[in-house]
Amino acid sequence: MEENQRINCSVSSCKYNNQKDQLCQLKQIVVTPIQGIETKQADESMCSSYKNANQNRF
Ligand code: SF4
Repeated sequence: MEENQRINCSVSSCKYNNQKDQLCQLKQIVVTPIQGIETKQADESMCSSYKNANQNRF
């Protein structure tokens, strides 16, 4: 990953989201395709690094 790359994200329920600046705090994330969805729109992908803010287990 490039040093200056950053991930803007507005998923406020994710524990890695800096809600003030709408930034992902991870150095890298994993994005995966959603099986069975072929809309050719953004909903074909999802962030697999998401963790719910209220979840403490890994
Ligand atoms: S892990 Fe994914 S969902 Fe969570 S803040 Fe980062 S980019 Fe957003």
